Amino acid sequence: MNYQLAEENQAFQDSVRKWVTKECPKQWARELEKHEEDFPFALWDKFTEAGFHGVGIAEEFGGQGGDMVTQMILGRELARSLAGLAWIWGLTSFAGSKSIGIYGSPEQQKRFLPQIAAGKLRASIAFTEPGGGTDLLGAMRTEAVRGEGGWILNGEKTWSSAAQVADYLLVLARTDKNVKKPHHGVTLFWVPAKQDGIKITPLPKLGIRSMGSCAVHFDNVFVPDDLVLGEPGKAWYMLLPTLNNERIMLSAFCLGVMDGVLEDALDYMKQRKAFGKLIGEFQVLQHYVADIAIWIHSTELMLHHTAGLLTSGKPCFMESSMLKVQASDYAVKAADLGIQILGGMGYSAETDMQRYWRDARLWKIGPISNEMARNGIAEGLGLPRSF
Ligand SMILES: Cc1cc2nc3c(=O)[nH]c(=O)nc-3n(C[C@H](O)[C@H](O)[C@H](O)COP(=O)(O)OP(=O)(O)OC[C@H]3O[C@@H](n4cnc5c(N)ncnc54)[C@H](O)[C@@H]3O)c2cc1C
Repeated sequence: MNYQLAEENQAFQDSVRKWVTKECPKQWARELEKHEEDFPFALWDKFTEAGFHGVGIAEEFGGQGGDMVTQMILGRELARSLAGLAWIWGLTSFAGSKSIGIYGSPEQQKRFLPQIAAGKLRASIAFTEPGGGTDLLGAMRTEAVRGEGGWILNGEKTWSSAAQVADYLLVLARTDKNVKKPHHGVTLFWVPAKQDGIKITPLPKLGIRSMGSCAVHFDNVFVPDDLVLGEPGKAWYMLLPTLNNERIMLSAFCLGVMDGVLEDALDYMKQRKAFGKLIGEFQVLQHYVADIAIWIHSTELMLHHTAGLLTSGKPCFMESSMLKVQASDYAVKAADLGIQILGGMGYSAETDMQRYWRDARLWKIGPISNEMARNGIAEGLGLPRSF
């Protein structure tokens, strides 16, 4: 049993850490995040130059290759400085390369993966609806009906992150209402975002401000058959294997946030004075950072273990759900302690603790709420479904 990174993975982690420190320092991330309405195109372009959009895409499609472990490392290191803005990379990596790579047809892969790898295509996920995200399928009202050579899409999605700058939306819609179970009869569409009939409106929110998360209306939007992903009506079965991937990725972001919190807390404790002493000499604050270090270590072990399971093709629903709950709970607790350690400066927009806290707070809610993830874990322990 070995949860250490292999030598080449360690080298990749070191090189990304150096890149982030030079190209995306925290001060810059703070500036970018402040502007609610301004998508950070400069950050996207830096990812393109570094080749990060190609991570996880096979070399034959112009990508860099790389498995879940590589993506986990990249996610963690980006989030150490960028916190939630790491999604600027992660969204297209997940909604685009992962989705098309796993359930796209060979033609769809040939058409879209090279564009994603080259940073020329941005994707957004449009699953959640105003009627509810936890009961995603039960609340789903967006529907697509057959038209000549394709489907006609109508409905409303909410919270689609970075939809305002997306080229394509990964849309889940009901295509058959006469089904026995809500997870039957749903289909995945890869919808060009900039076309008549689609209205995208950014929603103000607590954190990850400049990424934008949007309401999306579809009014008789035509989607040709060659932009359906996988078999119509079977989307839920296709999505299930990618959900573990998303939980691992998100947990890597949480761990990156904890790394950032710990280093900022230690820095501050070594220079701020009270009562003629460095605040780092106070035992209670030492215990706070000791706790954060414990949370980092245990989350890292779970993360490496779960990413290893997924990479080797083993089932990891329970592990990835437990990891997601622990990583997001700890990231928020760590950022909260980080604010406490910095005192008033922790609450200031001039430091990063408040940004870490605001960004990490989302991850207890989405993409799956921690209550719902715990439901799944309890069910995995043999208890009856509670909802
Ligand atoms: C900033 C932001 C970005 C997002 N980005 C995207 C995106 O890019 N694409 C996308 O599709 N979605 C996105 N989402 C949506 C996100 O996935 C949902 O918010 C999430 O799934 C929760 O759904 P909800 O907000 O409708 O809460 P609800 O489903 O209304 O839940 C409300 C509360 O009830 C609890 N609850 C519900 N059912 C149960 C149950 N059975 N047992 C116990 N508790 C329960 C929940 O845990 C929660 O505490 C984003 C959301 C936000 C806020």
